[in-house]
Amino acid sequence: MCGIVGISAETNVAAEIYDALLMLQHRGQDAAGMVVCDENDKLNSRKSMGYVRDVFQQRHMDKLIGNIGIGHVRYPTAGGAGKEFAQPMYVNSPYGITLAHNGNLTNSKQLSNELFRAEMRHLNTDSDSEVLLNIFAHELAKQREIYPSAKHIFKAVTKTHIRCDGAYAVLALITGHGLLAFRDNNGIRPLSIGIRKGKTRDEYIIASEDSLFISQGFKKLRDIDPGEAVFIDKKGSLHSQQCSDSPQIRPCIFEYVYFSRPDSKIDEISVYKARMRMGSRLAANILKTKADHDIDVVIPIPDSSTTAAHQLAVELNVPYREGFVKNRYIGRTFIMPYQEERKKSVRRKLNILDLEFQGKNVLLVDDSIVRGTTSKKIIEMAREAGAKKVYFASAAPAIKYQNLYGIDMPATSELIASNRTDEEVAKEIDADWLIYQTLDDLINAVQEGNPSIKEFETSIFTGEYITPLGENYLEELENSRKDELKIQREKSKARG
Ligand code: AMP
Repeated sequence: MCGIVGISAETNVAAEIYDALLMLQHRGQDAAGMVVCDENDKLNSRKSMGYVRDVFQQRHMDKLIGNIGIGHVRYPTAGGAGKEFAQPMYVNSPYGITLAHNGNLTNSKQLSNELFRAEMRHLNTDSDSEVLLNIFAHELAKQREIYPSAKHIFKAVTKTHIRCDGAYAVLALITGHGLLAFRDNNGIRPLSIGIRKGKTRDEYIIASEDSLFISQGFKKLRDIDPGEAVFIDKKGSLHSQQCSDSPQIRPCIFEYVYFSRPDSKIDEISVYKARMRMGSRLAANILKTKADHDIDVVIPIPDSSTTAAHQLAVELNVPYREGFVKNRYIGRTFIMPYQEERKKSVRRKLNILDLEFQGKNVLLVDDSIVRGTTSKKIIEMAREAGAKKVYFASAAPAIKYQNLYGIDMPATSELIASNRTDEEVAKEIDADWLIYQTLDDLINAVQEGNPSIKEFETSIFTGEYITPLGENYLEELENSRKDELKIQREKSKARG
């Protein structure tokens, strides 16, 4: 889970990249970083662990001089957590390239072997982003051009596509030459481009989400196509080329369910409208399965479910009430490292309004159920507050498989629905009734915003992965994501 932004302008861009990163903060809260390039082709950078507002102090911003730059917010999905994983990452040859990546490669182990054995490149971390950077750098270096043109850069992207499997939306700053962006051939992770008029030339922004364009004075040009590369050269001219021989749009459906801001449009689909339609479809499903339901009130679990929950209430013709107030200054429960802390943090994160529950049959709505920690705790709180019956609706289908494409999800064995039927999950979270969105309804709700998209990346619901996977990849990822093993690893690290 990461967010990326790049700007090419006539004047200093650091303050705008900072503002853009603040608007992408929900995509990663572990580390943040920025690199800008000044007119003498000197790179100025700052990256560290923590929130954007903590990483960049005035003293850092004062040194971030340059009219072209890229920024990144990170939450670890592959590799470890730590300062050395913060992005953008840098290689000095060729030209000096810094790169920011959102997504996850599914063959990075094989690629890092190739880089070491055949290409004699040293990798300092086990980050797949460092692999991606070195593959691209190697492919660009092979062309031996002192002054690479867009043509040479696109050739290197083409080769990178051939070698890399998985999900990647990428921004790279090629020192002295320009700003490059590319998206994997399925377009799994989002990336779009915006434009504004400068004094003498057009200025560009490229970012994971387009909702930040307006506040920076940019107008959206378009989404970057799957497999496409866009290069803005040093003079500000835009070049673009399809660099994949098999592009096919299959965006990650979970961006619409949970991950993206509601004010973003991804591949021409409004996230907000998609969430409204998820609410409508859920309502229709409830009416179909229980036409004589006795729901008195619909209560969302803030924040990402509120849009769907509101629409659901409207269509059920049942009052919609805010029964929980969120403490905004506590991070997401998910980012607490281990299960015990996660359980405690639900109560710290959400405060209950008893009056909305007393003596009522409530339908709680969340965007998704992952481990089930949140739903279980919330149902307990609703009962303590005096609810008569507690029903639970999830705007997403049951999550049964781990995510390989850049969304932070636990190991499959830690997903509450991985080995349970819907009834068993209901029992486990203590719901009187549990209703999940069906996968067809979810797909239709999202697709309605752009019917030209025929397929979405839905593997967390189906277990069908759309890219090749490296040898033992699934097993190794499963193991690295288990809480138990994470704790062991940290203990042995502490023992030295
Ligand atoms: P859980 O308690 O594990 O079932 O988590 C469910 C809650 O986490 C839901 O309220 C979602 O809004 C949220 N959620 C879903 N996916 C993620 C994710 N990848 N990272 C953080 N939070 C998530």
